[in-house]
Amino acid sequence: MLRSARLVLLGALVLVAVACGPRVTPAPAPAPRPPAPLPGTPSASAPVVTGLVCPVTGAVYTDSYGPRGTGFHWGIDMFEPAGTPVVAVKAGTVRFVANEGGGGNVAYLTGGDANVYQYAHLLDFVGVDRLVTQGAMLGHVGRTGNATANHLHFEIRIANINGVRVDPYPTLRATGC
Ligand SMILES: [Zn+2]
Repeated sequence: MLRSARLVLLGALVLVAVACGPRVTPAPAPAPRPPAPLPGTPSASAPVVTGLVCPVTGAVYTDSYGPRGTGFHWGIDMFEPAGTPVVAVKAGTVRFVANEGGGGNVAYLTGGDANVYQYAHLLDFVGVDRLVTQGAMLGHVGRTGNATANHLHFEIRIANINGVRVDPYPTLRATGC
């Protein structure tokens, strides 16, 4: 009696094993990626962010946001001589990252509006990570990272560091830069 009960139990286990079949290993979750461009975020539909001051003064620039080569250029290139002061477009918190790949020396300013303003290719930084007032000096224009000329690469990310990156051009023009 005991023996047959064991056999029944063994048979049940085999059936369960067969029914479960081979384990399928789930594919690893994809690594987080920066947000893809909204379908054609053209300048015309980019929001104008108000209340800024110019990140640099006297810059020469065009609407250079958009597809570039096989990639996408997420900001506006503002051409200036090396050493031109770069300032906080809004009051907020600045964080500096030295030698961040193609961006070179990069400053991230999280404004009081929660938008993140990115400044790339800086020659140097002024001060350390801190709270800044609007217009506070952050650094100077340079050509660190992947840059062939002295310029400020300026981006706007809406609402947070991983927010949608929009064309800063209408905002810069509206600000009078
Ligand atoms: Zn650029």
